[in-house]
Amino acid sequence: MKYRFAEMIWYETKEAAEQDRVAVLPVATYEDHGPHLPVDTDVVLCTGICERAVARIPSEAVLAPPVPHGYSPHHMDFHGTLTIGWDTFIKYVRDVCCSLAHHGFKRILIVNGHGSNASPLDLAARLTNIEYEGKILCASVNHWDTRKIKEVGAEVRDSEYGGTSHGGEYETALYLALKPDLVDMSRAVDERSPLPPSFKTDLLAGTHPQGSAARLIPYWSSQTVSGVLGDATKATVEKGEKFLEAATEGLVELIRELRGTEIPPRRDQHEEHISRKTAWT
Ligand SMILES: [Zn+2]
Repeated sequence: MKYRFAEMIWYETKEAAEQDRVAVLPVATYEDHGPHLPVDTDVVLCTGICERAVARIPSEAVLAPPVPHGYSPHHMDFHGTLTIGWDTFIKYVRDVCCSLAHHGFKRILIVNGHGSNASPLDLAARLTNIEYEGKILCASVNHWDTRKIKEVGAEVRDSEYGGTSHGGEYETALYLALKPDLVDMSRAVDERSPLPPSFKTDLLAGTHPQGSAARLIPYWSSQTVSGVLGDATKATVEKGEKFLEAATEGLVELIRELRGTEIPPRRDQHEEHISRKTAWT
């Protein structure tokens, strides 16, 4: 059964939409990932996880062609970064999602592979829902934020808090599992953010236990010399395979959860028949 949107004949995409399959859209970016990883790290990881997840449940999902470029202006001090204006990026992804919705896909899941894409992609998903006036469900998620990868990630990782940020243990291990020949572990480093707890990040752990969940994204070159924030030295192929399986399974679970979610009808409270008394009951 075909699951890649790009490989379908046009009427097959119609059938996929009629089967209520969830359209899964990988979105990433090209940027520095330290002295040991290629600049396509976010693209390889995000598309690799999405590909595996959708292939596992082809009758329930479709893999939309990925959006490889993202929002990375704070990485431009490093060679290799390609960035898209925030508004162009949001509108571009919204337009891709609206195209899918136009053809009948009622549930769309944007899967993000780059931290700084998260806010713009949240908006792209919301704008799609607004554009379709609540008749579809468009959601977004980071591939390190599903239930299963959070659970397994905490068991598998060896680095302390901050070790699985950008180019660290998680991303390096995943790349090792997917394309080991392109990782130079002899150059892997452990470099940490100088910021206080409330502004530190860790992909798998989320908020620092001694900090608040604040958001601060300074220029990358002001925090790291190598480009890495995390402990890449702890990465191994074996851990990468466990991360990959958990991220894939977590995404499968989420796709199924979204597919099983009814689209709740809107109730326009301006309509005359809704009285002051019944509006809240
Ligand atoms: Zn990354």
